[in-house]
Amino acid sequence: MEHRQPMRPAETSSQGAIHITDVIAHPLSQTLPKPTVTSWGIYSEVSIVLVEVRTDSGIVGVGEVLARFSPKAYAELIETSLKPRLVGQDARNIGALWQSMRRALSGRAGGILIEAIAGIDIALWDILGKAAGLPIAKLLGGIGRESIDVYAAAVNWVDDAEADRELERYIGEGFPRIKVKMSNPVKEACRRIERLRKRAGDDIGLCVDANWAYNLDQAVEVGKALSANGYFWFEEPLAPENEQGYEELRKRCDVPLAAGESNFTADQVQRLVSRRTLSILQPDVARAGGITETRRMADYAALHDVAYAPHIGMSGIICETASVHLAAALPNFRVMECECDLSPFKRELADLAPGCIRQKNGTLDVPTAPGLGIEIDWDAVARLRTQ
Ligand SMILES: [Mg+2]
Repeated sequence: MEHRQPMRPAETSSQGAIHITDVIAHPLSQTLPKPTVTSWGIYSEVSIVLVEVRTDSGIVGVGEVLARFSPKAYAELIETSLKPRLVGQDARNIGALWQSMRRALSGRAGGILIEAIAGIDIALWDILGKAAGLPIAKLLGGIGRESIDVYAAAVNWVDDAEADRELERYIGEGFPRIKVKMSNPVKEACRRIERLRKRAGDDIGLCVDANWAYNLDQAVEVGKALSANGYFWFEEPLAPENEQGYEELRKRCDVPLAAGESNFTADQVQRLVSRRTLSILQPDVARAGGITETRRMADYAALHDVAYAPHIGMSGIICETASVHLAAALPNFRVMECECDLSPFKRELADLAPGCIRQKNGTLDVPTAPGLGIEIDWDAVARLRTQ
């Protein structure tokens, strides 16, 4: 049944309430400074939706939606279907508002709705942190990390000479861990795996992201090359819905399996996590329902001795910063993705924790200012808007 009227959150105490007065979705599109080349092809354009939640206290929260395509469609969904459920409500009741937004479209378990909710949820946590005077990592009951480990992303699926240059650049920038994009043909992939290990030496951690390039037999073969060359994970070897394939691969591959960037909610990863098919879960906070649902996924993973490694590929500064706060707070955090070719969504929208070191020897500092701890440049938002 479709709910035509906004559901009222159950808790209606108004003491100290911070009422939402407006929700504005800003669709942004840009050309990447350098194309990303994966098994899917070449990406040279990227888009996100920046969500602005205004309140009667004067506090403004910002969030980000992973909206690779059709960002205007996400903005429309946010402003027509979700905003009416939010305006007038207490921004602090994040759990209730999440449930209310989830009911905006019945019968749809993931996709654009959960991604749209993600942007609003991040903005609500930003508001809560600003109201409390605490960074989100502390609100999450943080484990207290002041910096987090990251890996360089990524050596693209390009020719040998270019792949070598990218690898050497990341090593030169001080990254002790580097991700390599992998594709077909399998023989070429296995040769690349061995070649880069030799060039990197044994002290650099290497992992591989296949972006679903393989069938099971191919993945087994690539897995053998990864194992022989000491790679630390094999990311998305198979299509995310092929759970049986992942279970079979787990039995036939020594390298830890990583996935989760294509999942939207905790229930979607229940089987792969509870059977410990995956060793590493990689939800993207701007896709997987925001901080609220991503924390549920990571906590569920922790229960099963599965590590949490945030995915942020091609996202903006808000997604990255929200991920840093989760990484700082959650006990099973392993390592986070760090993109080395910064899109305008990372370079121009805000500084990551002004005054902090962005990346040094494979670590990122955790912002200490309230909320996300970043100040959005609204002129940049106007400049980067989708035409
Ligand atoms: Mg990936």
